[in-house]
Amino acid sequence: MQSNKNGMRFRPTPIPLKAGQKPLRFSFQEIVGHESIRRVDNTPVEVIGCGVIGRRLALSLAQKGYPLALVDHDNIESHNLLAQGYSKQYLGLPKVMAIGHDLYESLPVGNQIIAIPKSFRETVTAKLPIDPKIVTCQTHDFASRMEVAYHFYLQAPVVFSGTSATANMGWVFVQQPGQACLRCAFPAVKISGQAPCGGMSGDIAEVVAGIASYAVDTLAFDHPDRRRTWNLFKIDLTGLAPQMHIRDRIQRNPDCELCGEFKESRPRATAFSVA
Ligand SMILES: [Zn+2]
Repeated sequence: MQSNKNGMRFRPTPIPLKAGQKPLRFSFQEIVGHESIRRVDNTPVEVIGCGVIGRRLALSLAQKGYPLALVDHDNIESHNLLAQGYSKQYLGLPKVMAIGHDLYESLPVGNQIIAIPKSFRETVTAKLPIDPKIVTCQTHDFASRMEVAYHFYLQAPVVFSGTSATANMGWVFVQQPGQACLRCAFPAVKISGQAPCGGMSGDIAEVVAGIASYAVDTLAFDHPDRRRTWNLFKIDLTGLAPQMHIRDRIQRNPDCELCGEFKESRPRATAFSVA
């Protein structure tokens, strides 16, 4: 493990294979094949937000072998333990460090995990050299998601996800460079204020994190068993909100307040600011 003021690197020691032993990611490898596994190994993913969805998503991606940069400036508080799945021994520690330690201890493969206990905005201000090929964003307010959507709009695909406060609805949206942005998908959401997340069970987080992890695969490699026709997936566990059971293909809105300014010939403007 290496540490500096901007974070800590965890590189688990892979378990060596014995002669004739199956590869450690055998089931995933059977599905997606060697070439896709190689793509996974060479696709660093920045995971922004390590709360109730983010922690589960980080574990799923790490188990598949993606190198990860974990970004979250929160420390673990007692109410995070059951809801977000953190261990008591990590109370008070930054969430990203707890995930890094868990993966260092448990991962059988040697993919690198970088834990950065900062907010996304701090990583941009400090110009940290993260350089992901894919980003996931599951912060708990729409304003910070908009900042991420804007920052990466021309640079890298972003898999956004979130849930309702009632813990029975969730969504995943995939923003790809030059295509519909997060704001095109949710034009009416108020961007000020924070979404409440108290008392949420992990059920919907497991579902949403699984869909988001699948979406990352569809961006990382091309495989018939990792296809995706949608960029917006909404799910409702109650079954009482049929408009939530959708897989949709959102088109770019030319008048969008966020992505509307990105024209082919124009350089990127200043940072998107939330009034
Ligand atoms: Zn847009």
